Amino acid sequence: MSPETVVECAWCGEVIERADDPNAPADRVSHGVCLDCLGGLLDMPVTDMHALDSEDVNRLPFGLMELTRMGVVRRYNVTEAEMAGLAVDSVLGKDFFREVAPCTQATEFEDRWRELLASGGGDADFEFVFRFQRGHRLVRIRMIVEDDGDRNLILVQDLEVASRGESATDGLRSAS
Ligand SMILES: [Zn+2]
Repeated sequence: MSPETVVECAWCGEVIERADDPNAPADRVSHGVCLDCLGGLLDMPVTDMHALDSEDVNRLPFGLMELTRMGVVRRYNVTEAEMAGLAVDSVLGKDFFREVAPCTQATEFEDRWRELLASGGGDADFEFVFRFQRGHRLVRIRMIVEDDGDRNLILVQDLEVASRGESATDGLRSAS
């Protein structure tokens, strides 16, 4: 059997696409977003998270950030910025663990991240409480560390205000 590339939904893990990849050294998992998790945003599943343009990234029904191996924020969507009460520009290029959300320097967050990097990639799914000065947020986190280590994803959903998602994205749609 030749190696496969499997595209999984970054949020729920459902397999979106599966293809033989004779040139790949081994099976490989990449990430997109399934139709259900897009919540009506697009009418086709996303098969490459990194190919999403910034407009679509900003309209995703969950927070999304992309971090380098060093934890520097490369991408930070408006959904997360609104939930966190931070301006996107104030976060880009910053060290996430030290400058943006120091509360994540914890065993269940940054240590998990470091372990995934050290083990050559993988993912984790857990609940976490962001502790900001303006208040606490109970969130669900999906952490996806890629094998090359430089385009890693952290997906965030507020568990206490999960129903607020609709109005947040509606507002963005009318603003664009
Ligand atoms: Zn999904």
